[in-house]
Amino acid sequence: MPEARDGAVSAQGAVTGTAWHALPAEAALQSLASTASGLAAGEAARRLAAHGPNRLPAAAPRSALRRFLAQFANLLIYVLLGAAGITALLGHPTDAAVILGVVVVNAIVGFVQEGRAEQALDAIRDMLTPHASVLRDGRRLTVDAADLVPGDIVLLEAGDRVPADLRLTRARGLRLEEAALTGESVPVEKSVAPVAAEAALGDRTSLAFSGTLVAAGQGMGVVVATGTATELGRISGLIGGVQQLATPLLRQMDGFARRLTGVILGLAAAIFAFAWLVRAYDAEDAFMAVVGIAVAAIPEGLPAVLTITLAIGVRRMAARRAIVRRLPAVETLGAVSVICSDKTGTLTRNEMTVAAVETGFGRFAVAGAGYAPQGSVTRHGEPAGAEGAALLSALARAAALCNDAALRDEPETGWMVAGDPMEGALLAFAARAGVPPETVRLRHPRRDEIPFDSRHRFMATLHAGHDRAFACVKGAPERLIGMCDHQCGPAGEERLDAAAWHARAEALAADGMRVLAVATRDLPHGAGTLAPADVEHGLVLLGLLGLIDPPREEAVAAVAECQAAGIRVKMITGDHAATAGAIARQVGLRGAASVVTGAELDTLDDAALCARARESDVFARTSPEHKLRLVEALQADGAVVAMTGDGVNDAPALKRADVGVAMGQKGTEAAKEAAEMVLADDNFATITAAVREGRTVYDNVQKVIAWTLPTNGGEALIVVAAILLGLTLPLTPVQILWINMVTAVTLGLVLAFEPPEADLMRRPPRAPSEPLLSGFLVWRVLLVSVLFTLGAFAIFAWSEWRGLPLEAARTAVVNGIVVLEIAYLFSVRYQRSTSFTWRGALGTRPVLIGVGSVALLQVAFTYAPPMQGLFATRALDPVADGLPILLAGVGLMLVLEGEKALRRRLAAGRRG
Ligand code: ADP
Ligand code: MG
Repeated sequence: MPEARDGAVSAQGAVTGTAWHALPAEAALQSLASTASGLAAGEAARRLAAHGPNRLPAAAPRSALRRFLAQFANLLIYVLLGAAGITALLGHPTDAAVILGVVVVNAIVGFVQEGRAEQALDAIRDMLTPHASVLRDGRRLTVDAADLVPGDIVLLEAGDRVPADLRLTRARGLRLEEAALTGESVPVEKSVAPVAAEAALGDRTSLAFSGTLVAAGQGMGVVVATGTATELGRISGLIGGVQQLATPLLRQMDGFARRLTGVILGLAAAIFAFAWLVRAYDAEDAFMAVVGIAVAAIPEGLPAVLTITLAIGVRRMAARRAIVRRLPAVETLGAVSVICSDKTGTLTRNEMTVAAVETGFGRFAVAGAGYAPQGSVTRHGEPAGAEGAALLSALARAAALCNDAALRDEPETGWMVAGDPMEGALLAFAARAGVPPETVRLRHPRRDEIPFDSRHRFMATLHAGHDRAFACVKGAPERLIGMCDHQCGPAGEERLDAAAWHARAEALAADGMRVLAVATRDLPHGAGTLAPADVEHGLVLLGLLGLIDPPREEAVAAVAECQAAGIRVKMITGDHAATAGAIARQVGLRGAASVVTGAELDTLDDAALCARARESDVFARTSPEHKLRLVEALQADGAVVAMTGDGVNDAPALKRADVGVAMGQKGTEAAKEAAEMVLADDNFATITAAVREGRTVYDNVQKVIAWTLPTNGGEALIVVAAILLGLTLPLTPVQILWINMVTAVTLGLVLAFEPPEADLMRRPPRAPSEPLLSGFLVWRVLLVSVLFTLGAFAIFAWSEWRGLPLEAARTAVVNGIVVLEIAYLFSVRYQRSTSFTWRGALGTRPVLIGVGSVALLQVAFTYAPPMQGLFATRALDPVADGLPILLAGVGLMLVLEGEKALRRRLAAGRRG
């Protein structure tokens, strides 16, 4: 049984052998050589060097060999390997080698690209490293959780993930969800009191364990163990392995490719029987022809190319600061039809400044830039008189005390805020009003507090005065005015004129300002704790603060882009209705004129809520519960919803949304873990960028399929047609295998890299029910397969008619098919619009590399003597033989462009 005794700090970051839960908090601090104001920066650095980072070692990545071999674990590949084996046994080494070539080249491409995809995912994981709030040198700092050391003082808030094992030194309604450790899903109430040394893990209520989640309340604790020395480190030792590259879309395509393989094998068997029995082929020849058909038709490269397409999407999104936590979100993003966004920090800059103060003495204007303390507070351009100044000081003092933020003057960046930017703005205001925040905080230490919660919308603190205690309260005016019965005016304390204050709040909010009311109340000298009942009535209202938080410029453009793309943008905010309406107008939301409040939503039944959710775009004074109801209502209406959130209470709505979007900077760990995507910059424009990438990915997946299936189908159909019609094979089985090998990797891959089409964000979102293999795609597969077959036979007939020997005619056919595939590639790059544009003709770098390498390979295939030996090819006349082949390619383009134009006309006809 562990006993409380002095621990020795070991090199693993553990302070071994101490039953921290049984020690009083002060004793724990002492034995860790720390104080309530934290370690000194130098000491923290020394301890970090001694103990190592507060991190669990990552699971060892799969070895390169294992990853390479995994590329072969696929039914399609087994079929090819089987075909290669039998072909070799039948004495066709070239055929077998080419089939093996297909398999190996495919595996190499898959290996390389999958490696890059995994790297991209790893990089993303690094972007999501957790942070922790600590006290060092008595100041509050945000540090990487990996930099925590034993002895650090860590601050905890609702939504945080506990970054290390802590001995609590303060707990205010602190409840931790310890399921990660104990399996117990009901949050555990924590306190500072020591417990029995022999208490089980789940009963050590004076400890906060690394990896558990703060469900509610606030707390502070001293780090007693980091890294592998934590309880979590002891049970798991490793952090999660590699994320699997699998999404519903990929699984669907995987299943499809497998079923297709089955069908192809069945058809191949039938054709074998037909060739052998009806067409009296030699069994071996028939078999080789059928192997050619099967190998050509099986889309062996498709799964790898689709994975790559998806991985490129993830990487492009990360480059735009949108971090995808769950891969299926990449697909869903492309179908989003409604984006529900927060206001503060997402649509606005979250760079707050107090611009106006409403008091019983009238309105004051505040001047000053950013968070710097320099500035002024004036009325009609004049400094406030003596009485006004006294009131302003009281207001500034309350604003600085009822406040968890800190301001720092950084050498490179200037004044920065640690904590909530709004609270930072209040500190700057206090300084401008002549009340240095540091000084008042020292003079009036905080005894207790009621933290801000978006449900009750106020925050209160209790402080020691010189002959009494007093509470400072700040919060939403609608809430706070109701808690006051007096106000500060020219005659000192007077009875509250609530109506006048509501009107002043409305006036500030109508200018787009965020409004905060500040109040105070004297309490008995000995008061040591603050309960909601202490501040819910009897407060003295000091004044209102109006904060400006300008809209982000890029948000305005992004909202417009969404609207053009048929995506509704809705603002859901906890802020005042008038403020919300004003900001909504500034960023260009459609329904800015009619703002719905949370209270109004509460009166609606499900049907009415559905209609309201659909029609309105601005929802104000909402609580996190409203977000959940709104998502559900919108989804019931058929929308695909992206919803943003940051608080611990937003997690249910984020989980429920089709794409939950958490804020990377101000979001809590709880929100990030519930979300599919995290915005590294908290910026609305980033959501739009992610939607654009999501649409691009889906388009490219369609393009890859639309190219792969018909080209494979065409190659196979040529041989099938020859056998069925009893014609000379226009190309040999080994030549088919060659085409398949060469084009699958050079051409098939390039579509994964396609940039977005011009109309991408001008068309409505795709219907979520739309199947990937749409009727259009099936029709394309059939049409192009048939065109390929016709093209191949035409080139064959033309060459024979011109008197070329069989080998030369077949060489022409092989080159012809490759040219047709290139032509089709250029056509498929633009699904809806014409490819006959300058941009379309120029292609992209991957397109040019793909086409260039395939051309080189074809030249070798046609003219290099060893290749001529292997594949029975003959040199062709570049002009006399080459021109008709190029004409065939142009012909195919013309037919397909004609088809596109016809479709466009039909679509326009249907709309018009
Ligand atoms: P938003 O949707 O703009 O993020 P919040 O839910 O954060 O809205 O805030 C809602 C309201 O609560 C604000 O308009 C403000 O009046 C009040 N409020 C926000 N933060 C605090 C705080 N730290 N202390 C007191 N009141 C606050
Ligand atoms: Mg907020």
